[in-house]
Amino acid sequence: MYKKGVFIMRKHSLWGLISTAVAVLVLLSACSIPGIPNSSTPPESENVADFSNIHYQLIGDLDVENRVATGTQTTTFTASSIAEPLDTVGFHLYANSYSSPETSPSMGYSSIPAKDALGRITVTEATVNGNKIEKFNSEGQFLELKLPEAIQPGETVEVTLVFNTKVPVSTERFGCYEEICSYTQWHPLLAKYNVDTKTWDDHNYALQGESDYIDDASYNATLTYPEKYTAVTGGVDNEKVLDGKKQLTAELEHGRIFAIIISEHFEIKEKTFDETTIRTVHDSRNTDFTEKDNENLFTDANGAISFFSEKLGEFAYAKQFDIVETAVEGFAMEYSGLVQMGYFFNGQHDYQFYDVVAHEIGHQWMYSKIGSNSASSPFIDEGFTTFITAYYYEIEHQDNPDAEYLGLSSLAAYYTGQTIHGPIGESVYYFDKQGAYAYSDAVYSGTALALNELRLLDGQKLDAVLAAIADKHSYGFVTRNDIYSYIEEQYGVDTKEQFMYMINEPYYKYPTMLIGTQL
Ligand SMILES: [Zn+2]
Repeated sequence: MYKKGVFIMRKHSLWGLISTAVAVLVLLSACSIPGIPNSSTPPESENVADFSNIHYQLIGDLDVENRVATGTQTTTFTASSIAEPLDTVGFHLYANSYSSPETSPSMGYSSIPAKDALGRITVTEATVNGNKIEKFNSEGQFLELKLPEAIQPGETVEVTLVFNTKVPVSTERFGCYEEICSYTQWHPLLAKYNVDTKTWDDHNYALQGESDYIDDASYNATLTYPEKYTAVTGGVDNEKVLDGKKQLTAELEHGRIFAIIISEHFEIKEKTFDETTIRTVHDSRNTDFTEKDNENLFTDANGAISFFSEKLGEFAYAKQFDIVETAVEGFAMEYSGLVQMGYFFNGQHDYQFYDVVAHEIGHQWMYSKIGSNSASSPFIDEGFTTFITAYYYEIEHQDNPDAEYLGLSSLAAYYTGQTIHGPIGESVYYFDKQGAYAYSDAVYSGTALALNELRLLDGQKLDAVLAAIADKHSYGFVTRNDIYSYIEEQYGVDTKEQFMYMINEPYYKYPTMLIGTQL
């Protein structure tokens, strides 16, 4: 049976409908999961090493029927910005968060995977600069390799890991379901190193939302799998048949994670607008989604890309950007160069669906190109993305009655007089305890409302803040202190302090800054 994924709709308000569909990522199941202790959240202002020239080479074979990937990953980087030698090197093994029901992250409203359907990653061999590491433990979410020879400041490091990954049976972001397999959090990721405490960031993945804190890197990959499948990645893909198997080579110039999605039911369409090639990767069993729907999707996705490029700089994934239909339910998810959608909507839900796509496209800037610590400061990636998406609909669809409800004016009208229960600037682990609705209202809507107040005070200044973030932090990280300083530069110290109040106080009533302002 082909079950259609649906987004829950709240009927009581237009913005309620949007925020449920896009931002809320309704995490009902997360509310009932007993919390487990995580490593402490990495503080955002920590003094972390800035390794350079990070590159991942991935060679993998995908056994889709058994939900397995076997791979060899060679990671190279320059140990720049450290003053003392490194005795260890650390990698996140986020796939292991799916190795028990208690730690499995939940974004949608699927049930936690059954015990026989869990996921995991096992590293079987590790070599650093040609030295084989004999003893290590890859059972948890963090792999620390103790080095026989310390890495010197400025040295180029090469780490080769041989691993195998089992994908859960799940409608979550990392899962196989209804013959579509999302190999998303499938490979080890180089962790951040704190030069003050001399420790690696070893945080566990949060139960709701995202908690990635990963450097920008370049990738190339060679993947093999049975001929009947079609695979797509966040990179520029080239798929061919070789010796009775499919072989896909992919290059991703800038990425923070390398996702693969594969199915025997995929149909790929592509359209190029000036410099940008967008591909839709559609489940051919969903016959409700017509050619016309697909054309409309191309048009709106390109509209969002153009608007975000204007506000936040060039699109990093213009060579080939994929919008992929999968079996995820109740949410959608961004990866560098690729967005993982649920069921491709049509008909009366067009703009609700396009809005979700636009939100995930927004993350191609606010998270992927312009990185942040999404564990300690989810308001930077989720809140700014909610804002720029509603900003897009406010400006580019102002004469479109079908999309008007997605704009900032509609958001502001819905929340006027309401209290946002924050603090907006809390970590994702704080919201693990507060539940999904608190996370959505504070981090997504609350941040967008605070930024909207800045826009209503002076839209050009707000655009200058966005431009400064893009100019100074593309392919790096932006922190809350960076953002506060750009607001102060444009608006002055009083407005900056009011904005900080909205981010840091447990309660914030909309509007705050605009009270007493003649607009
Ligand atoms: Zn988001």
